[in-house]
Amino acid sequence: MAALRYHMRAMTTLTHLQCSACGKTYEAGRALNVCACGGPLLARYDLEKARRGWNRAWIPNGPSTMWRYQPILPVRKPESIVTLGEGYTPLIRARRLGERIGSANLWIKDEGLNPTGSFKARGLSCAVSMAVELGVRKLVIPSAGNAASAMAAYAAAAGLEAHIFMPRDVPQANYIECRAFGARVTLVDGLISDCARMIGERAGEGWFDVSTLKEPYRIEGKKTMGYEVAEQFHWELPDAIFYPTGGGVGLIGMWKAFEEMERMGWISARRPKMIAVQASGCQPIVRAFEEGEPRSRFWDNASTVASGLRVPKPLGDFLILEAVRASGGAAIAVEDAELLEAGGDLANDEGIFAAPEGAACVVALRRLLESGFLNRDERVVIYNTGAGLKYLEAYSTRFPRLDGGEHDKLGGLITPR
Ligand SMILES: *Cc1c(COP(=O)(O)O)cnc(C)c1O
Repeated sequence: MAALRYHMRAMTTLTHLQCSACGKTYEAGRALNVCACGGPLLARYDLEKARRGWNRAWIPNGPSTMWRYQPILPVRKPESIVTLGEGYTPLIRARRLGERIGSANLWIKDEGLNPTGSFKARGLSCAVSMAVELGVRKLVIPSAGNAASAMAAYAAAAGLEAHIFMPRDVPQANYIECRAFGARVTLVDGLISDCARMIGERAGEGWFDVSTLKEPYRIEGKKTMGYEVAEQFHWELPDAIFYPTGGGVGLIGMWKAFEEMERMGWISARRPKMIAVQASGCQPIVRAFEEGEPRSRFWDNASTVASGLRVPKPLGDFLILEAVRASGGAAIAVEDAELLEAGGDLANDEGIFAAPEGAACVVALRRLLESGFLNRDERVVIYNTGAGLKYLEAYSTRFPRLDGGEHDKLGGLITPR
C-alpha cells in the first residue's frame, strides 16, 4: 500500500519557469535557456498541491536515488528519466577529523560516490532527462571538468549527441571519461569562461546549451542535496553547511530546496549558515562578499588545482551572495597547498578520499572554529562534491611516489633480489 501510494503521487508539480532576476514567467514544456533579460530561469512548482498530495513519510518508499523527490523535480513522464543511480549519497559522521580540528558534530555528505564521481551527476541526470522529454537531440556544455564527464555519461545513456568544450588542462580523468562516453571533445586553451564564449559563437550548430544556470533544470537536480540532508537529519537542518563554490549552483539549489520544504511544511524557518568556500587563486565570491557588493567581478588569471572552483565570474553570483548573506554565513578562500594537505588529513582520519574542492571546506571550517564564528558543538555538514580519484595529478604533488634509491625499504620501494 505504501509503495502504491508513492507511485500515485510520484508526479511532478511543476507549473512554470520564472526569471530569478526580473520575475518574468515562462511556460514549462519548452526547451528554454535564459530569460530575455539574461537572468537565469528557475522552475516553480505548485507547492500547495505538493503539500496536500505528498507526504514526506512516503519518501523512503521511492527509489534510492534523487528521483525519490520526483514531485518537486520537473520531469512529467517517468519514462523520460535518465538515471545512473545519482544522489541519495551517504552522510557520514566524521569523528576523528572532528576531534583533530575541534568540531564535535561534524558530518561529510559524500558526493564522490555519485556516477562519474561528482555531484554534477545530479544536475545532468535532471537536465538530460528534460532534454529527452522536450525532444532535444544535441547537447553542448562548457565545463571545468566534472560537468562534462556527467553530461557525456547521461547523454550516452540517453543516446543523445554530446559536444564538450573544456580547458586544455582539465584533469586527465575528465578528458578520458568524456572520450570513453563518446562525446565530441574540444580542448580550449583557456578557462570555462572562454569555453562558454566559444559555444556562444557557434549558435548556428543547433546545439542546446546545458551550461549551468543557462539551462533551467540542472539546478533542480542539484537542489536534491538540500532535500537529502534534511531527510537524513530527520527534517532538521544542520547549523552550518560548507559548500565548495565554483558556479555556486549547488548552494543556490540547496537554498531553493529549503524554501520549498518550508512552504510544504516539512521544515521550520531556521536555516543553516551557508559557507561558500573558494580557492585563493579564484575567489570572486569571497571578494564580493567582503566588499559588500551584490555581484562579483571577473577574477583575472584564475588558477587552482580544485578545477571545479575555477569559475572566474559565476552567472548566479547575486543568488549565491544573497543566500550566504541571508543565512548569516561567510565566504572563505583557501590556498591550494592547504587544501591538498587537508585532503590528506580527511582521507587519513575518515577513509574518505575527497576531491580538492571538498578538502577546501575542511580548511575553511578549521578557520571558522579558530575565529569563534562557529563553536565545537554546532552541527556542521561539509559537502565533498567529488572523488579524490579524479584528481591524481593534483594529489601526486602531495603524495609523490617514494621510488628513489634512498627509499629502498619498507614504506618506500623494495627491489626483490
Ligand atoms: C563543479 C564542482 C564544484 C562547484 O560546483 P558549483 O555548484 O557550480 O559551485 C565543486 N566541486 C566539484 C568537485 C565540482 O565538480
